[in-house]
Amino acid sequence: MVLSQETMPGKVDCLVLGGGITGVGIARDAAMRGLAVLLVESDDFASGTSHLTSKVIHGGLRYLEHGHIRPVIEGIIERDRLLNQMAPNLIRPLKFVMPFEGHRFPKWLLTLCGLQLYGLLEWYHRGRTSGAMLGVRLQQDYPTMRPHPFAVSFWDAQTNDARLVMAALRTAQIEGATICNYTSISEARFENELWTLRLKRHQREWVVRTRVLINATGPWSPLTARLLGVEPMELTWVKGSHIVLRRPRAFGDDALIMRSVRDLRPLWAIPWHNRLIVGSTESRYTGDLRDIRATTTEIDDLFESFVRTFPGAGITRSDIRCAYAGVRPIIPQGRGSENSLSREHRIEVDSSRRLATILGGKLTTFRRMAEQTIDKVDRLLGRRPPRSALRGRLRRALLWPGLSAMEIRRLRANLTRVFGGSVRGADVIGHLVRHYGWDASLVLDEVARQPGLGDPLFEGMPYCLAELRYLCRTEKVNHLIDLVKRRTPIYFLVDNVGFESMPLVVKQVAPILGWNEERQADELSAVAAEFRADMQACADSDLPMSRQQPETVCA
Ligand SMILES: Cc1cc2nc3c(=O)[nH]c(=O)nc-3n(C[C@H](O)[C@H](O)[C@H](O)COP(=O)(O)OP(=O)(O)OC[C@H]3O[C@@H](n4cnc5c(N)ncnc54)[C@H](O)[C@@H]3O)c2cc1C
Repeated sequence: MVLSQETMPGKVDCLVLGGGITGVGIARDAAMRGLAVLLVESDDFASGTSHLTSKVIHGGLRYLEHGHIRPVIEGIIERDRLLNQMAPNLIRPLKFVMPFEGHRFPKWLLTLCGLQLYGLLEWYHRGRTSGAMLGVRLQQDYPTMRPHPFAVSFWDAQTNDARLVMAALRTAQIEGATICNYTSISEARFENELWTLRLKRHQREWVVRTRVLINATGPWSPLTARLLGVEPMELTWVKGSHIVLRRPRAFGDDALIMRSVRDLRPLWAIPWHNRLIVGSTESRYTGDLRDIRATTTEIDDLFESFVRTFPGAGITRSDIRCAYAGVRPIIPQGRGSENSLSREHRIEVDSSRRLATILGGKLTTFRRMAEQTIDKVDRLLGRRPPRSALRGRLRRALLWPGLSAMEIRRLRANLTRVFGGSVRGADVIGHLVRHYGWDASLVLDEVARQPGLGDPLFEGMPYCLAELRYLCRTEKVNHLIDLVKRRTPIYFLVDNVGFESMPLVVKQVAPILGWNEERQADELSAVAAEFRADMQACADSDLPMSRQQPETVCA
């Protein structure tokens, strides 16, 4: 399946603005119901908050502390759908351990009650339950952690956020949606029950008419509303920063919850491949939405909180491999700390203008948010609600590549039999099958013709040139940063963003993307500049940066 440069449709039922998880989920739902859909993203797919999350698929236990019970129940139901039915290839169960420090957990009793409820819901939905652990056991299982008298554990799940967006996006396209990135609105008007939009992509322009317009641009939605000439919804922005650490050998497979040294806010340390993601901070944000970076204070807070909880992990500041930050739009609900603000979404429909706006929510609940939005769109268009068979499909159908866990195992065994000889390195075939299903054989065919393309580019990681070339051919990659930060997580997982291998990557993908020498150099500089900007606060924080800086590689 190729996300090719389609012919832009002249008229659609539903035009979705925003290619983050919310917009993509909506496009999938609408297309599955048979609506003619166009999704327009002004930058790259998932380039907003959707690739800058904690990568946790969760019910949101901590929101119970603030009495937000309904969103937690919804989150658990959606988490289990994604994990067990829709994307078992992209989501894995993840155990969380929450140690108690007596007086440092003033709301511990409430938390414990919440955990009981969370555990009950888990038991109902999946069978993995919460538990309690005493200090001695904790010390055995987590030897690098400071001693704690008591801990509780519960299960949530983990994903690669940007790949989840791509899986939903490719599903939407298979279902008939037209999808385009790097396309902006240059003009919009509503008359005679129709929106007319002038769209621009590079040097080309199109005029598209739509019966319903959906603003799913998340943090940008007030700016988008102004572009459309409508009154924007009142919003605040809350920024969350993470640091990405080298994963110490002794840190097991479980995620740990700790408290911030600054304000006792709960933070988590989550193992992700060879890394530990520690986050997130929370503070109001008023800056540039395209230039959101972790600050020195935030990095120090996260690092010091981790070291205080895990003094034996042997982590120093030079183990900070990367830092990133994203924002979420929050609908003001009066007073309250950032942490206590509900993550519930809101859908506003202006029927006189046939405009729906969706805001808030979580990566975890994207499917439910989409279903509710398109239910409202159906009513606007005078359509009947979906029959129960379709409703069941909307709720459970596998996302692209559409293989069950058993089919993935079989395909992997078959491809290993055929191509095992031409692929070196860890689990390249398993990785390809999990992410691209049957398309793995396209990648492996190329490897069979040119064996070097199947060699892992980075030690201990499954990424190879043939996979990157496949992604450039099939997933609308426009820039090197799209490829290394969103189509793959190389930027986060490889030291120095894998910059030493980038010239080789650029050379290999240039013929596919039509890049000349000058463009190749520009793309390399752009990745280096992005990394420098992300790491600037670490440099300001006087980190002993033992690693080579990208500009030296670039020069
Ligand atoms: C720090 C942090 C951590 C989080 N961690 C988790 C987590 O672990 N688990 C979880 O479930 N949820 C998490 N969330 C919540 C989750 O990330 C968001 O709910 C989700 O990513 C929002 O997706 P979105 O599509 O609404 O917005 P975005 O991902 O920001 O997408 C909006 C898109 O609209 C595009 N756009 C802007 N203007 C226009 C325009 N005029 N025309 C077309 N396109 C436009 C942007 O380029 C962008 O791609 C986290 C949020 C934050 C801030």
